[in-house]
Amino acid sequence: MGYFNHAHYVEVTMHFRCNLKCKHCMIEDTMDRLRPESDDEFEKLIQLNAREDLWRGIVFTGSEMTLRDDLPDLARRARSHGFDHVRIQTHGMRLAKRDYCRKLIDAGIDEFFVSITAADAGNHDAITEVPGSFDKALKGLENLDGFEGVVSFTNTVITKRSYRQLPQVVDRLSHLKRLVQMDFWNYWPMRDTDDKDLIVSHKDILPYLIRAVERAQALGRSVEIKNFPECLLGEQREALDNDQPKLVIDPSFWKEFHSNGFHQCVHRDVCGSTKCLGLTTAYARKFGWEEKFLSPLGKPEIPEDVQPKESCKLDGLYSPLETAVSATSERQRSLVDAVADLGVPFTSEKSFRICHGTLDTDRFLLTLNKRYIRNRPNQTVMGVCRALQMPEDLLAGLGKQLAIARFVHFGYERRGDAELYKVYLEFSMPQRVNSDPRLLYVAFKWDCQHSERQVETKYHWFPRLSGEQIQRRITRLYDRPDGHALEQVGSIIRLAEERNPETPFRYLEVTEAGNQRRSFDLNLYDSELRMKDLTNPLAGIARHHQIPEGEFKQLFDTIQREPIGHLAGGMHREGVDFFNVYYGVERHQPNAAIGSSE
Ligand code: SF4
Repeated sequence: MGYFNHAHYVEVTMHFRCNLKCKHCMIEDTMDRLRPESDDEFEKLIQLNAREDLWRGIVFTGSEMTLRDDLPDLARRARSHGFDHVRIQTHGMRLAKRDYCRKLIDAGIDEFFVSITAADAGNHDAITEVPGSFDKALKGLENLDGFEGVVSFTNTVITKRSYRQLPQVVDRLSHLKRLVQMDFWNYWPMRDTDDKDLIVSHKDILPYLIRAVERAQALGRSVEIKNFPECLLGEQREALDNDQPKLVIDPSFWKEFHSNGFHQCVHRDVCGSTKCLGLTTAYARKFGWEEKFLSPLGKPEIPEDVQPKESCKLDGLYSPLETAVSATSERQRSLVDAVADLGVPFTSEKSFRICHGTLDTDRFLLTLNKRYIRNRPNQTVMGVCRALQMPEDLLAGLGKQLAIARFVHFGYERRGDAELYKVYLEFSMPQRVNSDPRLLYVAFKWDCQHSERQVETKYHWFPRLSGEQIQRRITRLYDRPDGHALEQVGSIIRLAEERNPETPFRYLEVTEAGNQRRSFDLNLYDSELRMKDLTNPLAGIARHHQIPEGEFKQLFDTIQREPIGHLAGGMHREGVDFFNVYYGVERHQPNAAIGSSE
């Protein structure tokens, strides 16, 4: 994954005019026909975001956005509707004027995606067909370097005209301090033939591309490669990221786009890649299917840290009390079976919830890494959720975000007579972290008997907070500063800081649209704390919630040696304060590999 999380952005095509004539322009033939989004459509989109907090950033794109004189107004409007980041895609020429940069930045634009087609003015200007375009773009990037709070990133389209210069492009831009990411997009022609003769064979591109990636990484930059066979990238496979932000564009664009014929490969049926776009029709027509050069990826290796320490029979999951999860109801059993039947390693966690005189212990979480589901992982997870009767609205929301999720967590809890299912998507951590909050999880929760009781929950991670800052944030979440769990949470935070000062814990805040939930999650997996270390604060929280001492002790005595996982607390959607504890992570290796094609 790169510097940015694509799921947090929406890309809006606001303009289809350009004053360069790049040889590789992929929308050159459609520019006159594509209709940019109207002002009304833009207004509706930003209002939607203000209402539902769907995206953190907006990208203005299409062709050359700086040709729109009202660009600063658009940025201001986006900022005033809840967008924390405004990005433009640009050839960078107007940025050569520092005053213009200042105007855009003052209006709220803080991310600049600049096209650099080659490593020097001669080659770049020959590709853009406009003399001086390279010097202006470079000057623009250098101007941006002088502004606090701004980041830039570049894209270099890989064509016959540029591929040999990729490493030199990195060198030429090495002095830029705010350049956080470099993209390399392997050219696709938006048709099924390479009429402009710009496609280069993978074999020819590969050594230049790898050198460029290595040099960029050595400079501390993130890298994203688009449209290159994953199997050829070796150790740089992680840099392949074909995801994009959600794109809002004239629907007629998609006809041209699909004429590329992505996802073709003779090894497709046996290859374990989940992100490769294979070959385009135009590529295969020019260079053939390269069946000997491409080599299908196998089932992903399971790293050491998810290998079970000892083989664990799934049957053990059903034994009550001493084992991971006690599946005492049909619905619990359905969930455990559905996850176990995927045939991939997973972890289980137990949990209890303290709320208003009640101690609920019938709850657990099962977690798997999506990449181990070998066949069609997204469809497979959707299938599990359908089998668990996830309501249609939630399924639609899940379907939109599943592709970019890394881990999937399946949760169950019983509260009185009610049984709830929960599915959490966990997104990848960014390669580099600043202090901005990031959406790390989205959860879909529903009452098994009353599916109209459903909710989507968002979990934003607040990086780099000290223990004191976390306590201050937690204080604000409660409606009355009269104790609640505050004092006890404070002592847990101090304990975690003392125990493992090297490993910061992760703090998240939790919100749900349409209700008053304001809560936090405190992730203590790396704290090396066990439940017994938290005896006093947890007993204090139980007392605060009027849990009979004997009832709490009976539970606690059986789980003292378990490692702590994460804590959750604050004000729940019903307006009462609550405290949840997750603990006792165990790893499981099912015997059957039902999800595998082998
Ligand atoms: S074998 Fe084909 S599908 Fe698999 S990674 Fe290589 S190009 Fe992509």
